[in-house]
Amino acid sequence: MSKVLILAEHDKGALKKVTLNTLAFARQYVAKFGGSYDFAVLGHNVGAVATALQGFGAGAVHVADHADLAHPIASAWGKVLADLAKSIGADVVVGPASTTGKDVLPRTAVRLGAGMASDIIALTDSGAFARPMWAGNLTGNVKISTANKVISVRASAFDAAEATGGSSPIQAVAADPALAGSRVKFVSFDGVQSSRPDLAEAAIIVAGGRGLKDRFGAVTEPLADVLGAAIGASRAAVDDGFAPNDYQIGQTGKVVAPQLYFAIAISGAVQHLAGMKNSKVIVAINKNADEPIFKVADYGLVADAFVAVPELTAQIKALRG
Ligand SMILES: Cc1cc2nc3c(=O)[nH]c(=O)nc-3n(C[C@H](O)[C@H](O)[C@H](O)COP(=O)(O)OP(=O)(O)OC[C@H]3O[C@@H](n4cnc5c(N)ncnc54)[C@H](O)[C@@H]3O)c2cc1C
Repeated sequence: MSKVLILAEHDKGALKKVTLNTLAFARQYVAKFGGSYDFAVLGHNVGAVATALQGFGAGAVHVADHADLAHPIASAWGKVLADLAKSIGADVVVGPASTTGKDVLPRTAVRLGAGMASDIIALTDSGAFARPMWAGNLTGNVKISTANKVISVRASAFDAAEATGGSSPIQAVAADPALAGSRVKFVSFDGVQSSRPDLAEAAIIVAGGRGLKDRFGAVTEPLADVLGAAIGASRAAVDDGFAPNDYQIGQTGKVVAPQLYFAIAISGAVQHLAGMKNSKVIVAINKNADEPIFKVADYGLVADAFVAVPELTAQIKALRG
């Protein structure tokens, strides 16, 4: 029997969907090995996040609310999370393989003396943790031999878990990060301000490649606006300065799995596919019919993007009135 502690991810006081993708994994784990799961909510003024989690069948929602936890500084969060796991007897800690999870969870693992499996995409029949390797060309099955385990979950590999009803109790955690001996202090966050959805959470993504050149924004933005979509890019488009770095999707960028993914003037290199091939519906627009992107596309249009995308945008706009 296991006790699984799930690190909840949130932003600006709201729960992030990746937490529910992670919960889907935790439920599979508990279904296979027996036991129960709790949530850990770390941060400041996170009452609404904890309340939002009460209907998901957890044994408890543990809340460490402290001004010094307002930002996910790994040394402080890792300590508080490990201490909480010890105090409630959790032998498994899971969280999203997001920027925050990749930072916090390894530190938690060290403090727990736990083996760690990262970026997990499935729990195998034999109870191993499957993770993609070599840009998704191989899947490694990892077994952890330590009693305590820490696991980061690739959110795009699991559908978000549904609420089950009920009302899990909220339990305050006495967390003073000063006790954690954190020598890292938050100074400022220089984030990109955007009214568009977060790439990792977006239902629709319009992604552009190097072929769009310096008209990257002129082609992708109107289509994204009409669809309420996030904008992504290939690494080549980023490297050539046509798109900002945080748009990058792929092996060395973000991993996404939206309902609908437009790959516009993207060739479909294996490193790009590693970040988007699990999208539910893929639409490729490319002037070269032989490009590998068409092998993964559900809908393919061989056309000049500078002509086809404005036309498509106008048609969608007209249909939507
Ligand atoms: C270790 C490593 C990690 C990497 N990580 C990533 C990663 O995370 N993400 C990533 O994307 N790449 C990554 N790459 C790079 C990857 O190998 C490719 O170079 C990159 O994905 C190519 O981007 P692209 O398709 O935009 O450009 P290109 O390969 O140059 O393709 C441009 C495409 O645009 C089309 N095109 C041109 N003009 C038009 C037009 N007018 N209308 C329609 N189509 C047009 C062309 O037919 C072509 O298919 C990585 C590479 C390495 C070695």
